[in-house]
Amino acid sequence: MITKQHKTFVYNMLDTLLEDLTINLFPTSHTKGLYIAAHGAKMIFMEAEDSTVLLDMDETMIHVIKLTPEILEFFQKNPDSQNIPALKTNLKSNEIAPWAKENIKQIQKTLSQYKYKTFIKIIPHEQYGYGLIIFRPHIKEFIDGLQELITKHDLQDLKVFTANKQDYAQVLVDNVNEHVGQNLELYNPSQPLKPSSMIVDDNKPLAGGKLVRAQIIDKKDIMSDNTQHLVHVPAFRGDLNDKALLQALEDVKERV
Ligand SMILES: [Mg+2]
Repeated sequence: MITKQHKTFVYNMLDTLLEDLTINLFPTSHTKGLYIAAHGAKMIFMEAEDSTVLLDMDETMIHVIKLTPEILEFFQKNPDSQNIPALKTNLKSNEIAPWAKENIKQIQKTLSQYKYKTFIKIIPHEQYGYGLIIFRPHIKEFIDGLQELITKHDLQDLKVFTANKQDYAQVLVDNVNEHVGQNLELYNPSQPLKPSSMIVDDNKPLAGGKLVRAQIIDKKDIMSDNTQHLVHVPAFRGDLNDKALLQALEDVKERV
């Protein structure tokens, strides 16, 4: 019989040999590592690195605003502002698209003179005619860093999981891909993910729902502490000094 002392010996030995691995003498479905069987024959089992990182889109990687007269005026008056504010508009909801379409030339001209124009992009928007994507600062380092974890076999996959309608979600993913030079894809919720998977999200309740849909957690656990699976980032709303994605990358690295 393998005693506690034996286990400690094996643990220490493996820990020395395999410094960069997490070693578990007792298997769990939530962590990667080594499982050492204690009954008769010793057995070593290494779990495959099959975790997926899901990425929320809105307020996690980007922020999309409507193009309104107030926003146009803001960029005209503040061509080098590092904070793009949320501005109320005097237009009614159904007046925004016609106004934006009528003024798109002037909007494009004004935005082309914006000092931080590499952070923004005008996109078509079903409801408002046009929208303005603001890319969260450090999004490229963030996605590149996650891709590197896949290359190193610490992670299997990276997918975008957004509540947006499919067509619009694809427009956003395409624009993020163009911005960062990567090939992100939308997550298909009919594919269950491994329990070691996680999500990067600004919204804790919505993230809980996504974790359930991806079968990473059980429905009964939706209200419990999901910090193991959730890398929470503060919502991004246009502050170009934001650094939260650098911290989020470190948080993911710590868990894989
Ligand atoms: Mg969000």
